[in-house]
Amino acid sequence: MVIESKKLWREAESEIGYNVYFETEQLDVGPLDNSSLLALIANCEKHSINHEILDRHEVRRRFSGTVEIPEDWVAVVTELGGVLKPTKAVAMFQALAIKYGAVLKDKTEIVDVETVNHGAVLKDETRIVDGEIVKHGVVLKDKTETVDAETVKHRGGVLVTSRLGEKFWGKKCVVTAGSWVSKLVQKVSNGRMNLPIQPVETTLCYWKIKDGYELDFTIGAGFPSFASYDHPYIYGTPALEFPDLIKVAVHGGQECDPDTRTWGAAAPINKGTSMLMRYLKEWIKSTFGDRIDWEDGPVMSQSCLYSMTPDGDFVIDFLGGDFNEDVVVAGGFSGHGFKMAPVVGRILVDLALGGKAAAAVWDEELKHFKLNRFEGNPRGNVKGFEDQVRISSRL
Ligand SMILES: Cc1cc2nc3c(=O)[nH]c(=O)nc-3n(C[C@H](O)[C@H](O)[C@H](O)COP(=O)(O)OP(=O)(O)OC[C@H]3O[C@@H](n4cnc5c(N)ncnc54)[C@H](O)[C@@H]3O)c2cc1C
Repeated sequence: MVIESKKLWREAESEIGYNVYFETEQLDVGPLDNSSLLALIANCEKHSINHEILDRHEVRRRFSGTVEIPEDWVAVVTELGGVLKPTKAVAMFQALAIKYGAVLKDKTEIVDVETVNHGAVLKDETRIVDGEIVKHGVVLKDKTETVDAETVKHRGGVLVTSRLGEKFWGKKCVVTAGSWVSKLVQKVSNGRMNLPIQPVETTLCYWKIKDGYELDFTIGAGFPSFASYDHPYIYGTPALEFPDLIKVAVHGGQECDPDTRTWGAAAPINKGTSMLMRYLKEWIKSTFGDRIDWEDGPVMSQSCLYSMTPDGDFVIDFLGGDFNEDVVVAGGFSGHGFKMAPVVGRILVDLALGGKAAAAVWDEELKHFKLNRFEGNPRGNVKGFEDQVRISSRL
């Protein structure tokens, strides 16, 4: 999927002329016996992905002395790293969607999703004209055919309602509500469906590169995106988003309700004295030495939300139940879904348009992401490398 996603990122960029994806090498480091790192190496071998395994001396040479690892650690270097500019990337896909006829409705919170042929009740003042909603006699789009609510019932499809009462009808509906997806699905199914997707509040940290070393941490100088497979799992990217700042953060956080989150105030990583922050500082000091100002802590931090599944794998499936195949759901991207956005989008379109037949085509990918993996098995997919997906707040 990563390889397919990379191709689709490049296609989208070239169609619109944006540059949102900056390629780097990926450097993964960890103890020799770390099961996640061993699984990564096995995966590279299985899929013939170019990779190098380096000891601490080779790492030092390879990254011109910028990166140090402990004596009993190894590093795996692949060509599959990179940094995405997320805001620009979302704008790119929105522009492409509009180009192909989509209508974007910003600031429109959806509060209800119902399948029309399963008892949806249309309000008196609402008529449906060729599938488009007409409210209070105002025709929202030129249409030729007028049908009554009864006819629409037989046509099936999905009716979606916004907090302001707007209604939208479609043959199919795709729900991708991020950290709100469990709450939304629970509400629209009247409490019958509970997705195992837990919102987690996390904090991103940006650290100042010391004077004179700024170029060493740029993509141009060959500095990689990186991850440290110890506990806690640490990851980061070269200086790109903000001048002379490097992102180094812990994968983890606090379980939360996305509507009452504390915006980072209660997150352990935000408290300068916390164990996680101390660990992060120590890690930066031992890995990048005095090239990064680690002592004073991050110069900038941002609060954001992960939506975690118990196994760290995505949910991409038909919602099922009363919604059957008419509603497709995707969520629980567990902190590693953004890079997959184009390929996940392609799968969702196929599922919505093609139903079960399309699911069969994507079976190899979807078998990891189906909701039924949690039936009688709350932990989901079995892993040979549990340590990477553990949430670090459980330290
Ligand atoms: C700190 C951090 C670091 C990350 N790093 C990486 C990384 O290095 N690589 C990577 O691949 N991924 C990374 N991710 C993960 C990535 O950002 C997510 O996997 C991805 O954004 C999830 O996409 P999504 O569409 O499920 O949710 P979101 O991107 O959250 O989008 C959901 C959207 O739905 C909207 N919404 C919610 N409820 C409703 C409603 N009722 N009606 C209408 N709209 C609604 C929300 O406002 C939001 O706009 C990271 C995430 C975080 C927080």
